[in-house]
Amino acid sequence: MKKTMPIDGKFELMALPYAADALEPVISANTLSFHHGKHLAGYVNNLNAALPGSGLEGMSIEQIVLNTPTGMHNNAGQILNHNLYFSQFRSPRADNAPTGKLAHVIEVEFGSFEAFKEVFAKAGATLFGSGWVWLSADKEGNLKITQEPNAANPIQHGLRPLMTMDVWEHAYYLDYQNRRPDHLAALWQIIDWDVVAARYEAE
Ligand code: MN
Repeated sequence: MKKTMPIDGKFELMALPYAADALEPVISANTLSFHHGKHLAGYVNNLNAALPGSGLEGMSIEQIVLNTPTGMHNNAGQILNHNLYFSQFRSPRADNAPTGKLAHVIEVEFGSFEAFKEVFAKAGATLFGSGWVWLSADKEGNLKITQEPNAANPIQHGLRPLMTMDVWEHAYYLDYQNRRPDHLAALWQIIDWDVVAARYEAE
């Protein structure tokens, strides 16, 4: 997994790899502008403000997530989580689905892509409060679906994160209000399975 390093002592707000309205109607430009430009930017600013004198200068985001107590961990975890989240989307497609080796492994482990989506959606719907649902790979390449509370990331369990859905209300409330399951169901249209497959095939 590629490490995210500070530049001149500061972490940068990731640039979105698509236009602000590229994910509509699944994620509106309005939601995206708050989620990326306010929420993620806030985590970046908070972490950068806390870095001087912390002894963590020069560490990657991943090292901070794995090695630090709550306050720093929360901001670093949210940066790592959102960077993986925002970089895994593309414009909506009908019948959007993985291909190649990852598609094969999903079929072997879950029975079918549809069955996989059901298990993932249930994990998203039943995660109480704020957090993230993840598809990850273990060291042998087996797939795992986990619910992570608040700012946690699967790297804390030795897993390699592949794909995620943010179930914090800020991710969907402007567009879907309380309808979290509807939001999660719509996200399948915009998952960039090429990005997810590349994460699976990377060391
Ligand atoms: Mn979020």
